[in-house]
Amino acid sequence: MLLVMRKNETEQRITALRSYFNKWRVDAVYISSETNRRWLSGFTGSNGQLLITREHTMLATDFRYWEQVQQQAPDFTLFKHQRTAVDTARLFTEVGVRRVGVEANHLTLQMDADLKNNETLSNIIWVPLPQTVEQLRAVKNSAEIAAIRAAAGITDHTMNQVNHLACPGMSEKTLAWELEKIMRDAGAETTAFTIIVASGPNSALPHHHPGDRLLQAGDVLVVDMGAQLDGYKSDLTRTFYLGEEPDEQFWAVYNVVLAAQTAVLQQVRPGTTAKEADAIARDIITAAGYEKHFGHGLGHGLGLDIHEAPFLSPRDENTILLPNMITTVEPGIYLPGWGGVRIEDLTYCTEEGLIPLSRCPKTPVISIKK
Ligand code: ZN
Ligand code: ZN
Repeated sequence: MLLVMRKNETEQRITALRSYFNKWRVDAVYISSETNRRWLSGFTGSNGQLLITREHTMLATDFRYWEQVQQQAPDFTLFKHQRTAVDTARLFTEVGVRRVGVEANHLTLQMDADLKNNETLSNIIWVPLPQTVEQLRAVKNSAEIAAIRAAAGITDHTMNQVNHLACPGMSEKTLAWELEKIMRDAGAETTAFTIIVASGPNSALPHHHPGDRLLQAGDVLVVDMGAQLDGYKSDLTRTFYLGEEPDEQFWAVYNVVLAAQTAVLQQVRPGTTAKEADAIARDIITAAGYEKHFGHGLGHGLGLDIHEAPFLSPRDENTILLPNMITTVEPGIYLPGWGGVRIEDLTYCTEEGLIPLSRCPKTPVISIKK
C-alpha cells in the first residue's frame, strides 16, 4: 500500500515537472541538485543525477548506490555510471535529447564546462533554468506537512528545556550541545542546522555561531534551532531574558517584535504576496523607530531544505502565498552592542490563513533564582 502511494506521488511530481517543458522550450531536464533529486525520486544517496525526458525517467549513480536506488526509486530506470565524462555522454545520447534544461542555481562552473566541452554532446542545446522543481516543492502534501509538524513538535519540546538549563556561568556552546542531545533523544535524526545560541551582545548577530562566552545575569539570549525527521526540517526561535526583571529597553524591543509577528500571523491569507506579508511586520517595526535594525526578510519556506521557496522578501511582489505552503514568520530587531530579539514560528497556510505549527510559549523571563 505504501509503495503504491509512493508510486502515485512520484508520478504526480514527474507529470507536474513535465507540464513545464513547453514553457521552458526543453525536451528534457537534467537534475543535479541533491534535494530536488530526492524530492522527485525518493533516492537519498550522496551522488546521483536525474534525466527526465517526455518518455524516460533516468537515475544515474555509481556502484555504491545500485542496490539502494532500486529500493528507494523503483519507478526510475537505473543508469549505472562510474563518474566519467564518457558515461555522462552515454546517459544523454542513449535517450536522444536535443534541448536540455539544467539547474542554473546548482550546476557548478566545472559541471557546466564538462557538459559543454564534451564533443559527443555538441549537438545538445543547454537551457539554464533558474528554478525547476523549487516552485513545485513550495506547496506541500499532507505527508510532508505531517513530517514537518512532527519535527516542529520535537523542536518545541527542546525549546521548552531552555528555561531549566540556561543559567549564569554556562557557555553558549554547552547550552547548544545540551539542546542538541535533547533533540536527538526525542527522536530527531539530526539537527536541521547548527543550533544558534547567542547571548548578550552576541544576540545582535542574527546567525551567531555559539562560542565560549559565558551566560550572565541580565543577558538577552536568542536560541534558534530545528529538528530534522525523514529529511524534513523545522525552525524555531525564542528570545529570553536571563534574570528576574528585564529593563525597559528589553520590553520595548521585545513587545515590538512580538506585535509585528502577531499581526502577520493574524493577517496573512492565501493570495498575500511576499512583500505584503513582510510589510505587515516591517511597518510596525518602522513605526516604533527600529526600521534600520530589521535587516533580513520576514521568513522563508522550509522542507527538505532549511531555506526554500517561498521567501518572504520585502522586494518580492510576485510570490503569492498559497494553501499548504509552509513558511516561517521571524521578525527581529538587532541593536549592535546591546543585543537582539527575534521570534520565529513555523506556520502553514490554509484557506483561513496561517496556522502555527510551533506551540512553544513566548514568555521570555528565565528566573535565575533556582
Ligand atoms: Zn531559525
Ligand atoms: Zn528561519
